[in-house]
Amino acid sequence: TVRVRLAPSPTGNLHIGTARTGIFNWLFARHLDGKFILRIEDTDEERSKDEFTENIFEGLRWLGLNWDEGPFFQSKRLDLYKEAVQKLLDKGLAYRCYTTSDELDTLRELQKAKNEAPRYDNRHRNLTPDQEDAFKAEGRSFVIRFKIDDDREITWNDLVRDQVVWKGSDLGGDMVIARAADDGVGQPLYNFAVVVDDMDMQITHVIRGEDHIANTAKQILLYEAFSCPVPEFSHTPLILNQEGRKLSKRDGVTSIFDFKKMGFVAEALVNYMTLLGWSPVDSTQEIFTLEEAAKQFSFERVNKAGAKFDWAKLDWINSQYIHAMPTLKLIPMLIPYWEEAGYDVKGRPQEWLEKLTALIGASLTRLTDAVEISKPFFNDIEYNEEAKAQLQQEGSKNALEFVLTALDNTQELAENSVQDIIKQVMRATNLKKPAVMKAVRASLTGETHGPDLVQSWLLLHQNGADVSRIKTALQ
Ligand code: GLU
Repeated sequence: TVRVRLAPSPTGNLHIGTARTGIFNWLFARHLDGKFILRIEDTDEERSKDEFTENIFEGLRWLGLNWDEGPFFQSKRLDLYKEAVQKLLDKGLAYRCYTTSDELDTLRELQKAKNEAPRYDNRHRNLTPDQEDAFKAEGRSFVIRFKIDDDREITWNDLVRDQVVWKGSDLGGDMVIARAADDGVGQPLYNFAVVVDDMDMQITHVIRGEDHIANTAKQILLYEAFSCPVPEFSHTPLILNQEGRKLSKRDGVTSIFDFKKMGFVAEALVNYMTLLGWSPVDSTQEIFTLEEAAKQFSFERVNKAGAKFDWAKLDWINSQYIHAMPTLKLIPMLIPYWEEAGYDVKGRPQEWLEKLTALIGASLTRLTDAVEISKPFFNDIEYNEEAKAQLQQEGSKNALEFVLTALDNTQELAENSVQDIIKQVMRATNLKKPAVMKAVRASLTGETHGPDLVQSWLLLHQNGADVSRIKTALQ
């Protein structure tokens, strides 16, 4: 069976690139009825933090990317890596290197002067036991290096990029797989631990960002050293900003929860990210659930080129999800944004919240838009400049006087009685319908644009705000 994994490092909050890699892994696993495994790569003790691990879990759950196995933590598997280092030492495929950082600096300077790429010159590959003892006696520490044959050509059939070829000589010399430690085996490094884990977890497909291509070349050599079958690799294109550079902090988003704060719905974000680099067989289909995408997911339809992040498209998809959402599902999604804006949500009956949500739902692109649109309903009236001007217009106040009188004579205000009032006012004032509507809207909401006026009026009428606001406007 297919086994894939997402292997985030908890050195920051769940990043959009990692989430997108997670989506591709999840889709691929679901498509082939495989397993999706979560592994936390926390061997970097200094930079890894529990709060980031939590954020990664929460973010994946929010997006609906549930995992079948794990989470596994690399920090709890160090013995396994050390055993593996020892195996390579025993086989003579790895060795202790005592080169000091000063010596490495000197080497790098020389290479720079000759315009050569920095690489280790493998000088300690064949130390005699006596030489080793002498270095130890000097008190030098060591790293473990894995031998990389310069003449090797490493090739694999990438699921996205087709054939990839790397030269051993482009890998920077013998590769450090563990740093010094007193046990003689050392602290395993990222590229090494990944391979040990992927072997141990019987990963069949490694799906990750294209920034890992050089790592893949090195890792393939490690599989060979362990005489272990090499998994398939898939390097997905990076997410780019409008300038075509890798999407970064400067673009205002890094963590998945930034998108939540901005008012995006999880399902919409996942839908959009699925389209970032992948396209469905019917390329006109833009709205689908993860499950629907999984049914037809394949790497054949993943682009080689980087995927530009398109805010307008994300907004459009988000609006589609909001507009399709039943009112009762939308209310609890809006409440956090309303509360953050300081609106008294708890003081409002559920029925009122339902009416408000039904009224504004269709105007929302992001959930955060609800804050501005609902303001006249939660808060005291505040007139904007256009509304002030509207109320000064010839006939406006006259119309509002008639509205007040008509309201007085209305038993119960409903949609048709509102329409009646408007007609009466038109007759009494000789104003056209738009003029009456504009005056009413300005007096009721303090704005000249907004959601359906009749429904807005009925909502404000519930707590008598219509009468008091019209009176205020007439003062
Ligand atoms: N820990 C790596 C990262 O966060 C993932 C490496 C991999 O998928 O092999 O970039």
